[in-house]
Amino acid sequence: MTVATKLRLASGVVIAVLVAILAVALYVPTRLNNASNEKYGNDAIPFQGDVQALLRQKTEQKALADRYSLTLDNDIEQEYFSAALSVNDRLNALTSYRDRLPGLNRLIVQAASRSSDVDGALLLQMDLARARDTSGVRAAQRRVDRQFARFGFTADLMLAQAKRFTDEALQEQDQTYDQLLISLSALGALGITLALALFLVVPRRVGQLYESEQRNRREAESRAEAARALEHVSDGVILTDSEGVIQFWNPGATTATGIAEHAAIGRPLHRLLPNWGRLSLQHDGLHGGGSALVPVQLESERWLSVTSVDFGEGVVYAIRDVTEERALETMRSDFVATASHELRTPLTSISGAARTLVRHGDSLTPDRREAFLQMIVTESDRLAGIVDQILLANRIEAGQIEITSEPVDALSIARSVVDAVALHAPPRIRLRLDADNGLQAVACDPDRLRQVLRNLLDNAIKYSPRGGDVRVSLEPNGSAMRFAVHDEGIGFEPSDADAIFERFRRLDPSMTRGIGGTGLGLYICRELVERMSGRIWAESRPGAGSSFYFELPLAREAVGAG
Ligand code: ADP
Repeated sequence: MTVATKLRLASGVVIAVLVAILAVALYVPTRLNNASNEKYGNDAIPFQGDVQALLRQKTEQKALADRYSLTLDNDIEQEYFSAALSVNDRLNALTSYRDRLPGLNRLIVQAASRSSDVDGALLLQMDLARARDTSGVRAAQRRVDRQFARFGFTADLMLAQAKRFTDEALQEQDQTYDQLLISLSALGALGITLALALFLVVPRRVGQLYESEQRNRREAESRAEAARALEHVSDGVILTDSEGVIQFWNPGATTATGIAEHAAIGRPLHRLLPNWGRLSLQHDGLHGGGSALVPVQLESERWLSVTSVDFGEGVVYAIRDVTEERALETMRSDFVATASHELRTPLTSISGAARTLVRHGDSLTPDRREAFLQMIVTESDRLAGIVDQILLANRIEAGQIEITSEPVDALSIARSVVDAVALHAPPRIRLRLDADNGLQAVACDPDRLRQVLRNLLDNAIKYSPRGGDVRVSLEPNGSAMRFAVHDEGIGFEPSDADAIFERFRRLDPSMTRGIGGTGLGLYICRELVERMSGRIWAESRPGAGSSFYFELPLAREAVGAG
């Protein structure tokens, strides 16, 4: 039974007791009143009055007979008869009590007969007085006295009976009164006990209920607040119960795992995320506040860094998607390996050539000495190129490069780049520039345009180890100038066309085996083109050569007009 039901029950009992007290308090006085009215007020008292009146009238009748006997006055005689009639009327009236006051019947009949006995004696007395028989009158008076005494005795019996009735009524009243007192006291005591119990228990229980309700409300509020706060936390937060069933799943968890909250809540975590089992194996230390990396296979493989706290009733997991960081980290370490290899190659050549010149310089022919010196120059340039690329990429990332915009004769820039590259290009490469004369000017930074073209051309040659055509073309396309660099080299998978523009991104070493690079060239190209309000993309198939395109906006004015 709940506390509320108990309280309701107790209050119901108290109300019932109070109603009972009220009913008893109303009923008993009514009964008392009825009883006294019936026996006492309606019957016994009037009866008493009638009997007393009868006695009085009979005494008066006797007195009138005595007065007549002395005076023989006719008026007194008439008065006597009317008194006798009144006595009869009174006796008749008394008979009406027979039904209501049982046991009186005999006495009333007796009173009537003794009254008529008195009447007989009185009439005799009056007759003897009329006959002037003085001694007979005296004898008759004595007889009257005797008869009257007997009548008086009956009247006294009737009064006594009436008194008994009133006494009985009073006694009954007393009894009913006592019953009332007892019932009221019992009910009152019960009521007071219950009220006291309620008084003592209810405030405490209500207080406790209020307290616990307050506590629950505060807890619910703080839970809701925590949940609201967790909605805005970018890290994933997952709460499982002791069975590992998910109870809470914030939007960060949805972002990290790609699984919506409604699909997660109520499901066991290890079933929802493949590999989660591995985490718990890997990782008892995790529950002590450490963190672990879990690969999770969703649409693509994602790496989650998971921290967890076991709080007895369940576990809270904080999840961060570190896929990007991990990729970056891998790229960085790849870069360190690549860059150090890239730097080492020209350094080795330079140091080899320099040593040869130092040790055997004198014995070398002038041509050979020249060749070694040329090697030092070329490799130093290459070294400087690599270092420049690394520095430029860093400056781009730090937002430290300045880019101007002016009307530029793109064709002449392209021609100068192609000419410069051609100087060093391997003989198997056939370089070509396709463009109409009189092209509209391009709005860009001429040095950066030169750099982009140079990078793309260098790549085209570098990734065409077997030689072939390398063609640069320029043609207007709407409001832009489209530049293209085509080669017939090793190409790449179309699916890599976007990735190769990422920083440090080099394709599978098996594809580019033997071809050095830092993975920064295309990244630099993309950043520069985009900063000049253009776009860049690539198309290729493995073994079928590659085409790199970029577009820059046309200038409104002609070259030199700005
Ligand atoms: P890298 O220094 O490695 O050349 P880039 O950023 O210039 O760096 O190029 C990134 C990757 O794109 C290269 O490692 C290579 O795999 C691929 N790539 C670039 N240009 C070409 C091309 N013309 N033909 C085939 N693959 C290319």
